[in-house]
Amino acid sequence: GGEPYLVVNNVEVIYDHVILVLKGVSLEVPRGGVVALLGANGAGKSTTLKAISNLLRAERGEVTKGSISFKGERVDDLTPNELVRRGVIQVMEGRHCFEHLTIEENLLTGAYTRRLSRAQLGQALERVYHYFPRLKERRKSQAGYTSGGEQQMCAIGRALMAAPEMILLDEPSMGLAPQVVEEIFEIVHELNAKENVSFLLAEQNTMVALRYANFGYILENGRVVMEGDAQELRENEDVKEFYLGLS
Ligand code: ATP
Repeated sequence: GGEPYLVVNNVEVIYDHVILVLKGVSLEVPRGGVVALLGANGAGKSTTLKAISNLLRAERGEVTKGSISFKGERVDDLTPNELVRRGVIQVMEGRHCFEHLTIEENLLTGAYTRRLSRAQLGQALERVYHYFPRLKERRKSQAGYTSGGEQQMCAIGRALMAAPEMILLDEPSMGLAPQVVEEIFEIVHELNAKENVSFLLAEQNTMVALRYANFGYILENGRVVMEGDAQELRENEDVKEFYLGLS
């Protein structure tokens, strides 16, 4: 409870001036929360994250209604970098790392919004390596030659270098083996538990996401069709049938 943290209110998004993709999405992430944004391929999960982090313009998308605020202040008109400085960063789908840079060089690029001394940069790196020991082992490897899981860790680690309060995580499980997915969600859990980093995570992998999240929203066709505590959603018969493939 308490004061509002991330609040998305009735957001509509249109691509290319005509394609209505989000039809009034409202959601909240409380401070310290892990919130799952669920739904099938094309439901609008990525679009919602990009609307928050102001990354739509590059894709000819536009927020045409509604509002987005963080800690009580409107953030709709901030650039992605300004939003990062306010404490909100997105990790894009597809684990964006620079393939030709080493893991460590990739991580260092994540600190670009901060003015850090060499010593502070070193400390920031050590913090990432603390949560991702695998990245420490692979720090001299060219990112393009590391595994999919390591590249996803690199993308999250790079975001951490910006010292965010909140991470918008798009489809972290994509293309990864179940065991690697668990490893990544365990780290998300640790960052949340130990450093109070909040997460909004878009996932098609409903089962895993609802095990690690406290709360979930289900999007269908650009609308929130269901929301609730993660456990409540896990036990809901419709969710089981449609999204968990059990019944
Ligand atoms: P995915 O898991 O595939 O990322 P998603 O739930 O994140 O699915 P979005 O990527 O937000 O869904 O896409 C929602 C809808 O918007 C889809 O119908 C998609 O085709 C459409 N869309 C996404 N990007 C654009 C774009 N740049 N121009 C036009 N339509 C787009």
